[in-house]
Amino acid sequence: MRMTKMLVPTSKEIPNEATLPSHIYLIRGGFIQSVGGSGLYNFLPLGKRVLDRIAKVVKEELDMAGCQEVSLSFVTPSSLWEESGRFEKYGKELLRFKDRKENDFVLGPTHEEMMVNLVRQSVRSYKELPLNLYQINLKFRDEIRPRFGLMRGREFVMKDGYSFHISHEDMKREFDLMEETYKKIFTRLGLAFRVVEADSGAIGGSGSKEFMVLARSGEDTIVVCESCEYGANIEAAISKPTETQSEPPQAKFAKFHTPDTKTIEALSAFFHVDPFYLIKTVAKRALYDDGVSKIVLFALRGSDTLQEVKACNAVNANDLIDVSEEELEAIGLVAGYMGPTVVVEGVSVVYDNGLRDAKALICGANEKDFHFVGISLVGVEAIFSDLRAVQEGERCNCCGGRLTYTKGIEVGHIFQLGTRYSKPLGANFLDENGKSVPMVMGTYGIGVSRLLAAIIEQHHDENGCVWSKASAPFELYILISNVKDEAQIALAESLYTAMREIGVEVLLDDRKDRFGAKMNDYELLGIPYAVVIGKKLSEGVVECIMRKGLIKEDVASDAIIDYLKVRLLSC
Ligand code: ATP
Ligand code: MG
Repeated sequence: MRMTKMLVPTSKEIPNEATLPSHIYLIRGGFIQSVGGSGLYNFLPLGKRVLDRIAKVVKEELDMAGCQEVSLSFVTPSSLWEESGRFEKYGKELLRFKDRKENDFVLGPTHEEMMVNLVRQSVRSYKELPLNLYQINLKFRDEIRPRFGLMRGREFVMKDGYSFHISHEDMKREFDLMEETYKKIFTRLGLAFRVVEADSGAIGGSGSKEFMVLARSGEDTIVVCESCEYGANIEAAISKPTETQSEPPQAKFAKFHTPDTKTIEALSAFFHVDPFYLIKTVAKRALYDDGVSKIVLFALRGSDTLQEVKACNAVNANDLIDVSEEELEAIGLVAGYMGPTVVVEGVSVVYDNGLRDAKALICGANEKDFHFVGISLVGVEAIFSDLRAVQEGERCNCCGGRLTYTKGIEVGHIFQLGTRYSKPLGANFLDENGKSVPMVMGTYGIGVSRLLAAIIEQHHDENGCVWSKASAPFELYILISNVKDEAQIALAESLYTAMREIGVEVLLDDRKDRFGAKMNDYELLGIPYAVVIGKKLSEGVVECIMRKGLIKEDVASDAIIDYLKVRLLSC
């Protein structure tokens, strides 16, 4: 392809609101174009080439693992979502609309219902299972804050796969196969990543893993062990239970006057007691289907922090939101002095597992300026759950090693779903005894368009993109320094033809522009290799550039083809 024929609207200007290198370079390099600044993007020719190359790697590895590609309708009848019970649950991210006949539809944010519907119509017997079907297609999520370009768009390209099995064991086998397949995909794309334990979110089911591209700009916090392989999203991470060396406060049960002690710090200073022995009570409003909501008090040690995703899962809510002091007051709760032991009508209490059978505790008396001391939870029957966020420096639950935080971009997510969708949607098969039973499912996603951004977050420098071999829009860039120089043109043209003949994807920069401008564009576009045909050609020399590290080397012009063959055709 020739630059003079290709639409590559490069720009020096940093787009509005773009802070991440991937967002800036993908727009400045003319890979993508924002549509109205609201999480919608057009892919221009270069961006489409990268997207296709990434999709090709994904497809090749999945096909090799025995998966079959299909393509499902993006517009989805909402009746399927009602059957699964997700129509309400999914919340505002689900874009709902009506057609001219007043039928309800949604734009698929994920396609479990659609795929189950496909399979329930076409599979009858155990003999037709297992099946692993996938598509690489558009998704729409009306994200509350679309941002960072392709990283969190509203419309985006996802590979979504779904597997169907006769047993849990067989689904687990496929889940492990998908983990291995995903590792191959991300390795081929040249990414440094980590597989971590994950929260299963609204999709339900248990046993899920995320594939995190390690990058400072990642939106996810992941907890990793310095000594073993353990890694988990903070939303699912666990550690050894926290302990303290300090003495428990010795006190019989009593109500104590504790003026101006609205915070854990103030209370700890007031009693000279380690926050470990204080109960932190956090009130949230839990939101459910059909506009139903309730106030929940989450109680944990004062030294711990509430992990909201865990808290939300503990009460099976769709979401948790903050509650104002006035709202609390209206139902008889006193902000700053709440405690889990006070019974308030309509308010549920969930304790963190770390408080199970704990004693010598202090908690709010639900009365301004008063706390209870000498609280014991030994033998108390209540709802206990894992609510706390793992902190850096805590000990790994697997090996005792030190846990640290790192940042990751979620590019893949695999779930063991079980019968969460097959049961309500009636996707049954006849087993060997002729009995009708629900299929056991797994589901597997990859953020294909997010991968463009993730690759650049990991591979860029101050001048632009540095595409990995498998994702680059072209393999070679031939830059003619002076398009008025016949000899330069002649060599460029013959090299362009020769390289294309051996299957190398080449972009020929034959524009009339200044050399400096063309060089800047080369660096911005990030194609792995360039040949610069310039003044030195009169001495029989051209310059080869490796984009990674901008390593330059003079090569004899008559040896250039062999030189490039070695660089480009070796794996
Ligand atoms: P996130 O936690 O980042 O919102 P998710 O857990 O909701 O993602 P999944 O339902 O697991 O996403 O979707 C599968 C994959 O699709 C994700 O691993 C991610 O790579 C990609 N993805 C999800 N949401 C978006 C989005 N808004 N824009 C681009 N890619 C996305
Ligand atoms: Mg996910």
